[in-house]
Amino acid sequence: MFYNSTRNSEIKVSSAEAITQGISADGGLFVPDSIPSITLDEVKALGDMSYADRAAYVFKKYLTDFSDAEIHYCTDNAYSTKNFESESIAEISHLFDGTYMLELWHGPTCAFKDMALQILPYFLTTSAKKINLDKKIIILVATSGDTGKAALEGFRDVEGTQILVFYPEQGVSPMQKRQMKTQEGDNVGVCALKGNFDDCQNGVKAIFTNDDIKNTLDENSMMFSSANSINWGRLVPQIVYYISSYAELVKDGEIQLGDKINIVVPTGNFGNILAAYYAKHMGIPVNKLICASNINNVLTDFINTGVYDKNRRFYATCSPSMDILISSNLERLLYLMTGRNDEAIKDWFGKLAAEGKYEVSDDTKAKLNDEFYAGYCDDAQTKKTIHEIYEKYSYTCDTHTAVAVKVYEDYKRETGDMTKTIIASTASPYKFSASVLEAIEGKASDLDEYDMVARLAELSDISVPSALADLKNKNERFNDSIEKESMKDYVLKNLGI
Ligand SMILES: *Cc1c(COP(=O)(O)O)cnc(C)c1O
Repeated sequence: MFYNSTRNSEIKVSSAEAITQGISADGGLFVPDSIPSITLDEVKALGDMSYADRAAYVFKKYLTDFSDAEIHYCTDNAYSTKNFESESIAEISHLFDGTYMLELWHGPTCAFKDMALQILPYFLTTSAKKINLDKKIIILVATSGDTGKAALEGFRDVEGTQILVFYPEQGVSPMQKRQMKTQEGDNVGVCALKGNFDDCQNGVKAIFTNDDIKNTLDENSMMFSSANSINWGRLVPQIVYYISSYAELVKDGEIQLGDKINIVVPTGNFGNILAAYYAKHMGIPVNKLICASNINNVLTDFINTGVYDKNRRFYATCSPSMDILISSNLERLLYLMTGRNDEAIKDWFGKLAAEGKYEVSDDTKAKLNDEFYAGYCDDAQTKKTIHEIYEKYSYTCDTHTAVAVKVYEDYKRETGDMTKTIIASTASPYKFSASVLEAIEGKASDLDEYDMVARLAELSDISVPSALADLKNKNERFNDSIEKESMKDYVLKNLGI
């Protein structure tokens, strides 16, 4: 299997090259040249395997240049109870009849990003070796909270790599800040920036594309790579849990082999729901893919009208990991939906860069409508939903997952569709204790972060993840805070060059 760029179908690279490069030089994203299939018999057989073996089985279809031993080296290191507080890795919890919560947050940083970022470092270092890249891989990350911590945990002490994360000093939650400042490992660095998330992101991008810095790194046998979901190595691990959860539901007798399911995903950068789309097109029987957004509802409008328009107000919400106006992975979906039409993609994404807006063809609109349902809700509805689920089902869910539950309820009311449904649960409620506690108790709490966690633990059946429980006793290692103008010098100093 080869990988093409969404902006040039002629480009052909191996998966190892796609993963080390991260993004194609023409600005496009790498996509496999075909979608491999999985039969229902194969899916059934997965039911008897461990999560790591299910993952290896799926990866063999995509990473065809990796040997079996290389794939198992990656999966065995990433998906073990050393890193995840659940035997099944991706745990399924029954919310109510026919509705299942796919809890993707039992990893070291308590958000679903761990499912991919625990394995990406192994993919990257293995890929680099395969293509004889004898360089140290430098990961630079701009984060609004969850990705930075998940990347730090994934890359910590992974040989041949070094990671440096920038976060906006005032833009992350106290818990997220603590998580990053106390990060352990010998190859990690964390720095606050006096600015917002966009400043972090722009700064990192400017460093990535600076030829002088690139040459300096080259002279020192180093290279940059990306841990964002534009990297195929972050997307492919996410396909696994949709296939795995289907196999699990069959095994448990919840559904019959061949039954269709709906999949609901709280969406930001469109990575997670794109993985569900891939699972469907490999052969998992899926009825509707339900795309749930918060009040930053650019995707809802796009799926419903075919017009993508980012020229709108940006809102900071209680589901911050979905506060995003440019969903990068949509480019991969549209490439597939247009029959791999790289010209159309260049046209639309050129317009997005120039005018912040584009409209897809009627044919593409019809396909979007056929496969997806889209909805959104605001913070008040999100909190109301957390309250109702807690009262009705004694289940505590985080703010992002609550957005998905609310949109799913709207979908059912509108369509009457009773197909069994998997809801992607993307973060532990403890990661957003303040909002969750406020939703359950009906008033804002004046406790500090740790006391809020303790209070939530009294109310909830879900136990406190040890990674969050331990935070209170950890030393803060990283207290640097810099102006955005000094990012470049800071990076070079940090790398010792
Ligand atoms: C990143 C994130 C999302 C959004 O996922 P995308 O793949 O960017 O669509 C949703 N919920 C949580 C908790 C996240 O961290």
